[in-house]
Amino acid sequence: MKRVAIIGGGIIGLALAEELARRGGIEVQILERNSRIGNEASSAAAGILTPQAESLEGPGSLLNLLLAGYTLIPETVARLQEMTKIDLDYRVPGMLTLALTEADEEKLTHDLQWQQAAGLQVERLKAAQVRKMEPAVSDKVRGGLYCSQAAQLDPRRLIRAYGQAVEQRGVRSLLSTPADRFLVEKNRVIGVEFSDGKIYADWVVNCAGPWAGFDRSLPIPVPAIPARGQILQFSMEFPLVQRVVRSPRAYLVQRSQGSLIAGTTVEYVGFDKSVTEQATRTIREGACEIVPSVGSIKGESAWAGLRPDTPDHLPILGPTPLEGYLVAAGHFRNGILLAPLTGRIIADLIFSGTSSMDLSAFSISRFVAKQVRGKIDQLPADGET
Ligand SMILES: Cc1cc2nc3c(=O)[nH]c(=O)nc-3n(C[C@H](O)[C@H](O)[C@H](O)COP(=O)(O)OP(=O)(O)OC[C@H]3O[C@@H](n4cnc5c(N)ncnc54)[C@H](O)[C@@H]3O)c2cc1C
Repeated sequence: MKRVAIIGGGIIGLALAEELARRGGIEVQILERNSRIGNEASSAAAGILTPQAESLEGPGSLLNLLLAGYTLIPETVARLQEMTKIDLDYRVPGMLTLALTEADEEKLTHDLQWQQAAGLQVERLKAAQVRKMEPAVSDKVRGGLYCSQAAQLDPRRLIRAYGQAVEQRGVRSLLSTPADRFLVEKNRVIGVEFSDGKIYADWVVNCAGPWAGFDRSLPIPVPAIPARGQILQFSMEFPLVQRVVRSPRAYLVQRSQGSLIAGTTVEYVGFDKSVTEQATRTIREGACEIVPSVGSIKGESAWAGLRPDTPDHLPILGPTPLEGYLVAAGHFRNGILLAPLTGRIIADLIFSGTSSMDLSAFSISRFVAKQVRGKIDQLPADGET
C-alpha cells in the first residue's frame, strides 16, 4: 500500500488527509508539531467564503482557483456534517461591501466594473437600499456592492469535523511531532525526520502553513511568510447583521450563536502571535464605522493567527524539483475557502500524476528567479521576528 506523510495538521493538511483517506487504498499519516490539530491560522480565521472579494487584482489565476474552490464547499460541508453530525454553521447570507468615504466609492466603482466584466454576480446599491437590507449599518453609508453568493462557516467547527472524519477513516495523526527535515535520497524525498524518529513515505506533502520553509537545505525552500491577522469577537444576544458586511477597513461576520466577529489586520511581524492594543483599537474603530452600535457592546475577546503568505501572495501548489515531494502552502487569506479544492488537487497528483486545474501560476518554480531567491533568503526563520 502506498504511504503519504502530510506535514502540518492545519485545515490544508486535514482536507488533504480526508480526501486521500476517502479515496482509499493509501496509508495516510499527519505530523503536527502542536499538541492539537488546527490550532494555528486555521482556527483564527473568520470563515468568510467569497471568491470575488479576495481576488487580489481582479480576474486571473487566483480568481479561477477561488471560484473552483467555492463550488466544492457545499458538498464538503454536507459530507462532513453527515459523517460527524457537527453543525458547521454554514450559510450563504451574501456580502455587502460598503462605501463610507469618497475614496471607498471610487474603489466600489472599480470593483463593480471588473466583477461585471468577469461575469460575476454583483449589484450596486444606493445608501437607502443598503440600510433597508441591514438597518444597523451607519447612516454615513454612501452606497454598497452586494454579492449574493458569499458564504460563511465556523472554521473551528470545520477543523473539529475534519479531525473526526480523518480519525474515522483511519488516518494516523502524530501530535507534538515537529518535522525537523526531509529525508532526501538522490533526487527524491523518501520521508521525514523528527526528534525521536523517522517516517518513510512514497509521497511527502508540505502543508506546514507559514512554517513551510522549515527545511532550508532543500533546493527550493518554500518561501512562506507569516502575515499576522487579529480578530475581535463580541458576545451578544441578538444578531446585529444578517450578511457579511465590510468596508475597506474592517469586516463583520455574525455567527448563529450570537457572537459577532470583527476583523482584521495584515501585519508582517515574523512569527509573533501577540494580540496588540493598537490593532484591537483599529478593528474596533473599523467595526463601529460600519455599525455604530458595536461601540456599546460589552465583553469582547481577541485572538491572532499567522496566515501563510508568499512573496507574490499566491499559494504554492503541486510538484517540486524533488520527486515524491509536493507542496500545498501559502494560502494567505483564503485557506478555509481553498482547503477542499487543495485536497482534491494534491490527491489527483498523487493518484494520477495530473490535475485538471492549471497549476502553472502556483508552481514553486516561479521562485527560482534570482531576485526572488534573494528575498527568500531574507525571510525570517521559525521563532525569529
Ligand atoms: C485573522 C485571520 C482571518 C482569516 N479569515 C479567513 C477567512 O475568512 N476565509 C478564509 O478562507 N481564510 C481565512 N484566513 C486564512 C486561513 O486561516 C489560512 O489560509 C489557513 O488556515 C491556512 O491553513 P494551513 O493549514 O496552510 O496553515 P496552518 O493553519 O498554519 O496550519 C499549519 C500547521 O502546520 C503545523 N506545522 C508547522 N510546522 C510544522 C513542522 N515542522 N512539523 C509538523 N507540523 C508543523 C502547524 O503547527 C500548523 O498546525 C484567515 C486567517 C487569519 C489569521
